[in-house]
Amino acid sequence: MIFSYFTILIMVNYVKKESLWNKDIKRDTGISLTQSLETDVLIIGGGITGITTAYYLKDTNLKVTLVEQNLVASGVSSRTTGKVNYLQETIYTDLEKLYSSKVATNYLESQLFAINEIKRIVKKEKIKCNLEKVSSYIFTNKKREITKIKEEKNFLQKQGIEVKAHTHLSLPLAIQYAISVRDTYVFHPLKYLLHLKKVCEAKGVSFYENTRIQKMEKLDDGYLCYTDKYEIKANKVVLACHYPFFLHPFLMPLKVYTEKSYITAFKTKNYQTETYITNTLPCQSVRFHKDNTSYMLYLSRSHQLSNHLDEKENFNEAIRGAKRFSKKVDYIWENDDMMTLDHLPYIGYLEKENPNLIIGTGYNTWGMTNGTLAGHIISNLIMGKKNSFSSLFNPLRTNHYFYPGMSLYILGVTAKGYIENKLWKNKSWYSKKVEFLKKDGEDVAIYHEGKKEYIVYSKCPHMGCSLIFNEVEKTWDCPCHASRFSLDGKCIKGPSSYDITYKKK
Ligand SMILES: Cc1cc2nc3c(=O)[nH]c(=O)nc-3n(C[C@H](O)[C@H](O)[C@H](O)COP(=O)(O)OP(=O)(O)OC[C@H]3O[C@@H](n4cnc5c(N)ncnc54)[C@H](O)[C@@H]3O)c2cc1C
Repeated sequence: MIFSYFTILIMVNYVKKESLWNKDIKRDTGISLTQSLETDVLIIGGGITGITTAYYLKDTNLKVTLVEQNLVASGVSSRTTGKVNYLQETIYTDLEKLYSSKVATNYLESQLFAINEIKRIVKKEKIKCNLEKVSSYIFTNKKREITKIKEEKNFLQKQGIEVKAHTHLSLPLAIQYAISVRDTYVFHPLKYLLHLKKVCEAKGVSFYENTRIQKMEKLDDGYLCYTDKYEIKANKVVLACHYPFFLHPFLMPLKVYTEKSYITAFKTKNYQTETYITNTLPCQSVRFHKDNTSYMLYLSRSHQLSNHLDEKENFNEAIRGAKRFSKKVDYIWENDDMMTLDHLPYIGYLEKENPNLIIGTGYNTWGMTNGTLAGHIISNLIMGKKNSFSSLFNPLRTNHYFYPGMSLYILGVTAKGYIENKLWKNKSWYSKKVEFLKKDGEDVAIYHEGKKEYIVYSKCPHMGCSLIFNEVEKTWDCPCHASRFSLDGKCIKGPSSYDITYKKK
């Protein structure tokens, strides 16, 4: 035990706390918005949803503008495992049970369509993003899960997909049963997105980085969107910002919850053209990546956001998990995604009879395919074209167990963290260097670093949840909806659209 604690301590000093995809990528600082403007389409958010939407709209006569609060491709899309995959745990049997075989088949078709689109775009635009064909596995080490995986196999075989069954893997992962398919892919998500950005810019799409939309006002013919200094008037607004920064319409906090995981990457001599994932929580997921060095990526410690708030423990657990494969961990980072309870993303209009506000989110950790689909569907909606997948992902669908069970469940999950944080003040979540107190009648938190003090408001501006100090990454994190703030209070991840830097009265 003592040995393991010290080994982790030593490893932690060497491990880079950033995504492997940033390695060797040179980026400029981006152009920020310096004046108010008008546009036909405003895309808020420069991840895979926003950039792909811009890509599909780039050849139209529409004036397209994309704004990103940080740098383009620095959000969730830059921290994925980068699998381009239709074998997504046991989603098809889940959809068959919840809806119907037709819905499951339609979802499979949508994922195959998206994979083909990514392949087509990579070829057409000559993108060097390490797109590589791989075999993908789902596996379980629990006997009770075997039947479920067998059902998934039956479903896929009925769709004409070749599926193999296995009782051993070539990795030291505990397994009872696994299935595998071919024709799935992996790529380098950041190289893909940064190249697409360049293609869009060359076709006249305007990108403004370090530009955050803070609020929006509905007009008869569109929206007026405000940054801290300027206004953008847009006929159509695309919410590609992962989690919208406003509550109305759509009441997103009642419809999704956030799942968070740690990903580690380490050098390997055992490079494989295979990916692996378990079908239940706690998820384990593996892929390999090769540039001038071969890496294995190992995802673990996945949990609903408010369930595991001790960041130090999460971090150490993730390192311990990776240690089963490698003595040295080179990279570790965390990522979170929006989960819908019916397993289907939300892509489309947010309000009945309002064709000017469109969203793409809720990808249930499969955003490379679903973000691409979102770009396709959203651009079709804007151009008034039919899309055979749009009804499947319609955010206004009412034919699932949404009210009241779904909302109550999500509220319960969020409330648990909220209450524990607010009422029980679980000390293990806080650093000894942090004080929570009242200043001029406001709730504030102070982080002491030597003689230096960082003072911030301690409530998340999104919905008022009390923030937790993340000792590993030195950030202020919201346990309710995953907003994050730097030490000095700058919002680095939404849904909050405001900073928490303390301003003396
Ligand atoms: C651990 C983990 C592993 C994953 N691995 C895979 C995988 O292997 N394959 C796969 O298909 N999917 C994977 N996913 C899922 C996938 O990464 C996401 O679903 C997808 O990247 C989400 O893309 P996005 O465009 O919606 O969000 P983002 O990439 O986060 O883009 C949204 C952007 O909007 C910006 N923004 C937010 N608010 C504002 C505002 N107010 N003004 C301006 N800009 C704003 C943000 O800064 C951000 O850059 C994984 C997810 C997780 C959590």
